[in-house]
Amino acid sequence: MVRHVTSASTVPPTTSATPGVARPSAAEVLHRVFGFDAFRGDQQAIVDQLVSGGDAVVLMPTGGGKSLCYQVPSIVRDGTGIVVSPLIALMQDQVDALLAVGVNAAFLNSTQAADERARVENAYLAGELDLLYVAPERLNTEATKRFLGNGRVALFAIDEAHCVSQWGHDFRPDYLSLGDLAERWPDVPRIALTATATDATHREITERLSLHDAQHFVASFDRPNIQYRIVPKNEVRKQLVDFIRQEGAGQAGIVYALSRNTVEKTAAHLQAQGINALPYHAGLDAAVRQSTQSRFLREDGIVIVATIAFGMGIDKPDVRFVAHIDLPKSVEGYYQETGRAGRDGEPSVAWLAYGLQDVVQLRRMIDDSPGDLAHRRRMSAHLDAMLALCETVECRRQNLLSYFGQPSEPCGNCDTCLDPPEVWDGTVPAQKLLSTIVRLKRERNQEFGAGHLIDILRGKTTARTTQWTHDTIATWGIGADLSDQQWRGVVRQLLAKRLLATRGEYGTLGITEGSAAVLSGTSTVPMRNEPERRASSSSARRAAVADLAPADAGLFEALRAWRAAEAKEQGVPAYIVFGDATLRAIATARPGTVDDLGGISGIGEKKRASYGEALVAVVASAG
Ligand code: ADP
Ligand code: ZN
Repeated sequence: MVRHVTSASTVPPTTSATPGVARPSAAEVLHRVFGFDAFRGDQQAIVDQLVSGGDAVVLMPTGGGKSLCYQVPSIVRDGTGIVVSPLIALMQDQVDALLAVGVNAAFLNSTQAADERARVENAYLAGELDLLYVAPERLNTEATKRFLGNGRVALFAIDEAHCVSQWGHDFRPDYLSLGDLAERWPDVPRIALTATATDATHREITERLSLHDAQHFVASFDRPNIQYRIVPKNEVRKQLVDFIRQEGAGQAGIVYALSRNTVEKTAAHLQAQGINALPYHAGLDAAVRQSTQSRFLREDGIVIVATIAFGMGIDKPDVRFVAHIDLPKSVEGYYQETGRAGRDGEPSVAWLAYGLQDVVQLRRMIDDSPGDLAHRRRMSAHLDAMLALCETVECRRQNLLSYFGQPSEPCGNCDTCLDPPEVWDGTVPAQKLLSTIVRLKRERNQEFGAGHLIDILRGKTTARTTQWTHDTIATWGIGADLSDQQWRGVVRQLLAKRLLATRGEYGTLGITEGSAAVLSGTSTVPMRNEPERRASSSSARRAAVADLAPADAGLFEALRAWRAAEAKEQGVPAYIVFGDATLRAIATARPGTVDDLGGISGIGEKKRASYGEALVAVVASAG
């Protein structure tokens, strides 16, 4: 049923719509339609499972290639693949991407005019569609089910299946009734897909969607093309601007912050520095948010500064960096957000700046949160795992993957691997700090925040130290060997390790159960070195720029310019024309004829027919 949508196409349809005629094999579809040589990872097994009529539950990271898992079987099997997706805003782009490779796809959602809907419905009933995207709330109505029953369903694909989890942050009540599909269509294969990796979510998906007989596919959650970097925060705006200039100049990126206020201010600051940045948060007008999102998808090199409201389903494959300027509340959230970088598999960076204040603030937020004790404990455990990642002296990726239950070797592509931190023994400074806290409490019944304690340790006279005669404390000035910033690093790491606690409204510091062992010297405190103590990192790589020979890089830029013009003319995002990886392959291979394009990944028959001559002309004119 693969159709060629534009009349300009010179290639005959790959298959006939007539039932009974031999269907193409999955490998044929992969090659001729999508232009790919081979399936990746579990794709082949998943496709086989569906084509043969079985169910599947698929856990695969962002960028892993989930879409092909249901798109190929929908084309191979008789009837239409029904895709349930909560992301109405993205349906248009998903359908455009399929039409661009000659697959007959359409969607049904609330944004459509009645005549357009009628056109789609007729196409479905006539058996002309390979894929039909439907919003979950629509699929739950009896009218829609009856309508689907009048045509032929090839399979049901339930995308973003973690939306069925009531405990997750993306819960959609409409997902709960999708389990009913099993009863109504017992013979139609179903596939549930998600990029959420936890066992609990996996179990919930299986239960609630009645996928008891499904085969399960759990991919590695590693994203090897993403370089993870975590730096101590000092002047965060300056650090951010430097980071963007060094790594991502002219590239698309996302900057995450916790509050709307920080989002607004940071976006304004970046704009003032000549960076093409736009703010995005839930307090903005829906129309503004819509236009920001669509500019991000369609224009090159926009940086979005956002709260987590900018998130699920940012399907843009060429996001080159994700930066966090506030500490995320959990490793799950962090991994999901950083996972929006580099879906296309090209080198990308996840950069996080975090500091003492983040720890103090998040701990206080948890203490003040309205939930019950169990809820606060859960949030605390999430934060502790996040802090352990920030303070680890080992490979970041190993830490992340082991959090998701996947053992691995040091990765060679994180800050720790590329530029191993010095580990130093922080026991003595920790003792100095803890004993200052103990003395102030015992001798004067006083508690203070980090700033004042550091002044005492460094012997720095201030109005407050004079007022309280703190220069008479036994620990006055015994920490003058460390700078203010190094001391803040010590406090931060002790807080992260729960050897120090913040208390009350002012975030004053107090000791914990673990502190005693440090004070008595029975436990030591290894610490990650602060950058100040060593030369600034020289080996950090410019990961965002892939290494093309200079001559090829020129052609790559020419191809990008051609793509931008083409995408603009069609009113679609650039990646729907071609992904970066395909343009890079063309720049290296320098095809001389349209036939030469056949071997390049990402160019199927339809795209070769539509763009082949134009591409060869760009290559020729680049000399
Ligand atoms: P996900 O939905 O899991 O985030 P996508 O389905 O968007 O991932 O695929 C990510 C990228 O990988 C896309 O650019 C897609 O074209 C590409 N891709 C997927 N499968 C293959 C394959 N077998 N060969 C080459 N590229 C692939
Ligand atoms: Zn590593």
